[in-house]
Amino acid sequence: MQSIHTHTLGFPRIGARRELKTALEAYWRGDTDVNTLEEAGRTLRARHWALQAQAGLDLVTVGDFAFYDQVANHIQLFGCEPARFGFDGTEPALTRYFAMARGDREHDAACCGGQHSVHALDMTKWFDTNYHYLVPEFSAATDFTLCASRLLAEVAEAQALGHAVKAALIGPLTFLWLGKAKEAGVDRLDLLERLLPAYSQLLTQLKEAGVEWVQIDEPILGLDLPPEWRNAFEPCYWQLNQSGARVMLATYFSPLEENLSLACRLPVAGLHVDGVRARQELVNVCDWLPVPKVLSIGIVDGRNIWRTDLDQALSVLRPLLERRNGQLWLAPSCSLLHVPFSVADETALDPELASWLAFATEKLDELATLKTALRGDDADVALATARAAIASRARSSRVHSDEVAQAVAALPADADRRHAPFAQRQAVQRARLRLPDFPTTTIGSFPQTAAIRAARAALKSGSIAAQEYEVAMRAEIAHAVGRQEALGLDVLVHGEAERNDMVEYFGEQLDGFAFTRFGWVQSYGSRCVKPPIIFGDVARPRAMTVGWTTHAQSLSHKPVKGMLTGPVTILQWSFVRDDQPRSLTALQIALAMRHEVADLQQAGIGIIQIDEPALREGLPLRRGRWDEYLNWATRAFRVTAGVADDATQIHTHMCYAEFNDILPQIAALDADVITIETSRSDMELLDGFGKFSYPNEIGPGVYDIHSPRVPGVDEMERLLRKAAQVIPAKHLWVNPDCGLKTRGWKETEVALTNMVAAAHRMRAQ
Ligand code: GLN
Ligand code: ZN
Repeated sequence: MQSIHTHTLGFPRIGARRELKTALEAYWRGDTDVNTLEEAGRTLRARHWALQAQAGLDLVTVGDFAFYDQVANHIQLFGCEPARFGFDGTEPALTRYFAMARGDREHDAACCGGQHSVHALDMTKWFDTNYHYLVPEFSAATDFTLCASRLLAEVAEAQALGHAVKAALIGPLTFLWLGKAKEAGVDRLDLLERLLPAYSQLLTQLKEAGVEWVQIDEPILGLDLPPEWRNAFEPCYWQLNQSGARVMLATYFSPLEENLSLACRLPVAGLHVDGVRARQELVNVCDWLPVPKVLSIGIVDGRNIWRTDLDQALSVLRPLLERRNGQLWLAPSCSLLHVPFSVADETALDPELASWLAFATEKLDELATLKTALRGDDADVALATARAAIASRARSSRVHSDEVAQAVAALPADADRRHAPFAQRQAVQRARLRLPDFPTTTIGSFPQTAAIRAARAALKSGSIAAQEYEVAMRAEIAHAVGRQEALGLDVLVHGEAERNDMVEYFGEQLDGFAFTRFGWVQSYGSRCVKPPIIFGDVARPRAMTVGWTTHAQSLSHKPVKGMLTGPVTILQWSFVRDDQPRSLTALQIALAMRHEVADLQQAGIGIIQIDEPALREGLPLRRGRWDEYLNWATRAFRVTAGVADDATQIHTHMCYAEFNDILPQIAALDADVITIETSRSDMELLDGFGKFSYPNEIGPGVYDIHSPRVPGVDEMERLLRKAAQVIPAKHLWVNPDCGLKTRGWKETEVALTNMVAAAHRMRAQ
């Protein structure tokens, strides 16, 4: 008997037109009340379940909706909100929920100017995605009490609409793993014993509510787990198994490797594996998972936007189906949270390119086609359409450029190397630039004022001509240069007024990139990003920044830094083609950016910064794969920078990540100067740089640009002194943590005045 089912691990909750964002922000502003917000949530859920049902999914997924974040939902579901969000015990759950997510803003404004405000939970990246979750806080006193009313209400909502329901939960071990201990000596794993009864109770309640399956996500099974965490899985799932609920254990993002046999033997009714990133394991899973259990294969890529090659997918699935005696579930590899809503909305996109894409909605249709075909029913039309699209992408001259291939092949072996070693370059650069000790600079962007944004919007809508926009931006650049001169900064920047986004700006000018209108992906809360799509070979038809930079340089005798985004960051913040290795795409981007470095240098620009804030986040989830990634990623950077003469000073910039475990690779970038975010950790980050004896110059950020609080001269001086204890003073630069585009001019000027004063005090010593 054949039994093929389709399901999804989760669906984008933000809505086709970011309806959730609109509803949330109206509510936060106080323009709408809680009923309106709840109604917006209900409408979106109903719409998304309807789409799942229309695509023939056998179960709709409930529990993937969240007003802010699914991990925050679990914090309330298990009643483990940190005490500071308890207020006086009378606040509605949703008020406490938003306080966890955003801090208690009313308290902020109303009483003490924020001094005693309740600060929000930390946010950090969900595995290797660009989605940020709220980090649960655990202490020795943490208790868990089930508060399932919201989830059960959503289950009832779906059932009332006639859907068969699968509830989706984050698993207990992953939930604890993702949290952080607030006190020394607290081991999160010790809390499992207290947490499990709440999970068991929930499973029982879901079963009683008529939920057919419960999907429990344990993506940490794809990580290098400490043995005690690995050993916790079996007893944990034996205990949960007592509830009698049918559990589908979901893993994704990474191969299971040494956890594979463990995952196969856990006492659950089904196992989902990532058929894209762990394809090589499918045959083993198929053989090791005892047959009465259901195998769910994530055959459609939930992390990327390309149409699935259905013929190839069928050839993978058919033998597996046979081995599983005709029983198989099909799904996207992971939740569809990480892809945009629907390609159908992209009417402005070139139709041929659009035909190569599948966003969340189309991915559901792909599952339907696969199911039909596997059952032996007629899927010919859908298969033929898919086949044509795959073929057109494979042979398109817009994807494959002989010129780019030749240029990459012609790169000399030492293209990733500067001519002289750092010490010699440093001497040449010092003679050329004549900077004081503790030179001051900024990270690139200055405030993106309303006027700047209005000019850009007017250009996009066609209400001003390119010429007029250019005049406006040149005036903004002149303004930024003038202010920096007045502040007495040593190395100036043009201010990035012309850039909406540091990746989009370059993507729009490079060949091989496309942009969608509605391709939003949730980043955190109501915030979304619209990543560019790298569909073809990347090349740079013309210079991208030289005009703006030379204009800025013409206005000052001080050096102006050229400002570029590095190849790894461009790659990391885009949807990347999947028909060639990422390393090759990175190299193509590197080559394009290398030409920009050469042109800036040719135009007389003496300092060029190549930003790589995303270098760290490209690291694979498994340590065993780090080297391979770091090798090609750092090479891509060096290829971009390698064209610089000894006298051209190359800077790089990184921020908001843990860098200490990749210091050798950061050093291997061989940038002459690195500016790096450090002030939030009170320069702790620099300990690593000191111990490692970082060889080149460093500008540790002396103030946190994310906070509206302006630190005084003493405070910045103290940080610089602390830095000077671990970094040779001759190697120190003075700068903020990151770009200033989100700040206003007033605070920026006060902060930079203090920063310059702190540098002067250092020089006076
Ligand atoms: N040059 C960029 C800026 O200043 C760097 C931004 C970043 O690090 N994310 O805005
Ligand atoms: Zn930064």
